[in-house]
Amino acid sequence: MTTGRYAPSPSGRMHLGNLLCCLLAWLSAKSKGGQVLLRIEDLDAQRCPRVYADAIVDDLAWLGLAADGPCPPVYQSERSAIYRQYYDKLAARGLTYPCFCSRSQLHAASAPHRSDGQVVYAGTCRGLTPAQAAEKAKTKAPAWRVRVPDEEIAFVDGHLGPYAENLARDCGDFYLRRADGVFAYQLAVVVDDALMGVTEVVRGADLLSSTPRQLWLYRELGLTPPAFYHLPLLLDHQGRRLSKRDGDQSLEHLRARYAPEEIVGKLAFAAGLQAAPRPAAPADLARTFDWAQVPKHDIFLPENLF
Ligand code: GLU
Repeated sequence: MTTGRYAPSPSGRMHLGNLLCCLLAWLSAKSKGGQVLLRIEDLDAQRCPRVYADAIVDDLAWLGLAADGPCPPVYQSERSAIYRQYYDKLAARGLTYPCFCSRSQLHAASAPHRSDGQVVYAGTCRGLTPAQAAEKAKTKAPAWRVRVPDEEIAFVDGHLGPYAENLARDCGDFYLRRADGVFAYQLAVVVDDALMGVTEVVRGADLLSSTPRQLWLYRELGLTPPAFYHLPLLLDHQGRRLSKRDGDQSLEHLRARYAPEEIVGKLAFAAGLQAAPRPAAPADLARTFDWAQVPKHDIFLPENLF
């Protein structure tokens, strides 16, 4: 059975971009007769108060997109003991090492940057001896990175097609754990999707470049990867990324102005799922849904649509 998932980070109310992601995850799974699970990605518990997670559950139900599976849903903030088990497997193989680099060292002008703006880690702390690391640890708690191979990791995205990265060249050793002990998104997402039995991941194209890292972790941890579908980003009519700061695009404001089918119908129109912005329930859209309807390039939200 197809199992999709919603994996929102509840640092605010959902906006239309988050909602499009949920709608497509739901449609992709349901059009195959599958289910969708909900996982609250609140690793950074301080930035993710429970009220926002509760609001997401309520918003999804109101929109006709309620998750299947356990209620309450899975909270990443409660799973660090599980992440630790998988982290320890990598550590036991000598794949992890402490990194003491400061933010400014990491962003030094000479450091190569990825196309997504992230810095390719130069490997500064990779060769520290245990004695050197112990000395540094006296004054600074380290973050922990994983040693990546000089190897191309390729996959075919269900929507965007082939994508590949050489982990050593294009990414560098990446974080598995922060200095404060919180496990990193890249590790948590792999462990959770695998343990929850997720067979397809639908998420924004901003995470396309994380996928080779995650596929490599699946391999190293002996876990089965899902299929991936990355959807284009939703931009406002001037081409700006929607953010949780744009209050009028948030579900809080939209719910005060529209019925659920109006919101879903307008969004479905913007995303190419129907020819006009007429009201639609998710179940109506599932009957004709096909990924081929969804653009591969960024989606501009027409002015005055909402
Ligand atoms: N929690 C992430 C977000 O809200 C999504 C992570 C994922 O889908 O893998 O952007």
